[in-house]
Amino acid sequence: MKEIKIILLAVFSIALISCGGKEEKKKEGFSYEKKPEVSTKVESNPNDVVITSNDAMQFNKKEIKVEAGKKVKITLRHIGKMDKNVMGHNFVLLKQGVDLVKFGNTAATFRDNDYIPTGTKDVIAYTKLIGGGETAVIEFDAPEAGTYDFLCSFPGHYALMKGKFIVE
Ligand code: ZN
Repeated sequence: MKEIKIILLAVFSIALISCGGKEEKKKEGFSYEKKPEVSTKVESNPNDVVITSNDAMQFNKKEIKVEAGKKVKITLRHIGKMDKNVMGHNFVLLKQGVDLVKFGNTAATFRDNDYIPTGTKDVIAYTKLIGGGETAVIEFDAPEAGTYDFLCSFPGHYALMKGKFIVE
C-alpha cells in the first residue's frame, strides 16, 4: 500500500512538473513568436522587398539582397500612370546561368502570356504584368546563396529594367 502511494505521488508530481513545464514553454514560445512578428512590420526585413517601377521604364533598385533559407516576398509597385499595354512591368527572377538578353528576347514574343515564355524552366519566380497604379505581390522560397538576375520582361525593358538579386 505504501509503495502504491509513493508511486502515485511520483506519477502525480511528474505530471505536475511536465504540465507546468509545458505551460512555461508555451508561454515562452508565444512571446518569442510574437516579438519578431511585430518587429518585422516595424523594422525592415531583408526578405520583404518592395520595388517600384515607373513610366520612365525604371526599377528603383538595381540590387536586391535577401537571406538564404527563408521566404522572400516581393512587392512590385507601378508608380506611373501608363497602361500595362504601353508601359507594363513585371518582376522576373531568372535561374543562374540563364542569359538575360536571350530570355528577354524570347519573352517579348509571349504577349498572350504576359511576356513569360510558356512552360519556361528559366524562371525562379515572377509577378504578373501590371500597369500604372497597380501592385503585384509574390512569395517564394529564397534560392540557394548566389547572385541571380532579375528583369522586367516587357519588350525592350530589360535594357534598363534589370538588376542583381543576391542571396546571402
Ligand atoms: Zn517594364
